[in-house]
Amino acid sequence: MIPAAIQLLGHTWTVVLHDGYAIAPDGDECKGYCDFERQEIHLNATMPESLLWHTFFHELTHAVLYYMGTKLCANEAFVDMVAGLYAQALKPLLGKGRAPARVVRSAPAKPSRPDGSISQTPPQPPRSRERSRAGTASSDLPLRSRR
Ligand SMILES: [Zn+2]
Repeated sequence: MIPAAIQLLGHTWTVVLHDGYAIAPDGDECKGYCDFERQEIHLNATMPESLLWHTFFHELTHAVLYYMGTKLCANEAFVDMVAGLYAQALKPLLGKGRAPARVVRSAPAKPSRPDGSISQTPPQPPRSRERSRAGTASSDLPLRSRR
């Protein structure tokens, strides 16, 4: 089962499963994304098991590389290759099933306009959050990464 939480350098990362696309704070619909500031990995839990695990390892790799302070954290091809290799190597150990007890969040409603139409502009994260990152990684790394 996908763990409900993981520990990295003594920090607890929560794994949040979504019943559809994981909606990143910038509004992008993703298989998953990694929120470094909140220490959360978000995943679309409706994906097939193998893709769910691959995406979990992808976001976990982002988190690990973020703590290591390497720019490889933002190299999607590198991150995805590492993730795919871990998913393959560990497949015999990965249990079936997606649902240990944990939060499953629905996708947040898209902002609507007064006339009821859906805004085409996704919500933007507050700027201040971009600057209040932890001191564990180099400052030119992104706060979030998505798959
Ligand atoms: Zn990624």
